Amino acid sequence: MSRPVRFNITPIEAKVSDAIAVAEAPDGYAGEGFFTTKLSDVVGLARKNSLWPLPFATSCCGIEFMATMASHYDLARFGAERVGFSPRQCDLLMVMGTISKKMGPVLRQVYLQMAEPRWVISVGACASSGGIFDTYSVLQGIDQVIPVDVYVPGCPPRPEAILDGFMKVQELVGQESIRRRNSDQYKALMNSYGIE
Ligand code: SF4
Repeated sequence: MSRPVRFNITPIEAKVSDAIAVAEAPDGYAGEGFFTTKLSDVVGLARKNSLWPLPFATSCCGIEFMATMASHYDLARFGAERVGFSPRQCDLLMVMGTISKKMGPVLRQVYLQMAEPRWVISVGACASSGGIFDTYSVLQGIDQVIPVDVYVPGCPPRPEAILDGFMKVQELVGQESIRRRNSDQYKALMNSYGIE
């Protein structure tokens, strides 16, 4: 007996407007024919919806990141589909996996090669604290060599957790003043890592 074949003979017409997500406008004053807001908010809006991640994946957490990029979770929905492997073109360093002490200087060099403004997510227990590897050879947290903006807990964190961490970074990026990177506080933070 042959299997019945079904055809969709009454397709639902798709509306283009339903498929386009519109970013929320920042706070401001609107009137007839004008809208005013802060420059920082406009720059933040553009930056947070066009982050270019650089995946620094060394072990199992990297597999979760692959799932996060794939069709089901689809990081591209957040404007971050352009994953790059050149530090000079990326602005979000995503560190995933066990980082050995030998790898520390390499990670730091990758961070230094990224242009400002740059942000860092530490994904998983290993990158954040060394995880289960409390040994002589493993770095007990990447914040010993580079500053971290958001930590994602878990061993491994599920893709939902990675998305949550990404959205937290988006919040930070959207709210960041364009003057922050020139502030004394930021310079002091960089100096504490030996970065001029
Ligand atoms: S946190 Fe767990 S899953 Fe992630 S790299 Fe370490 S051991 Fe692997």
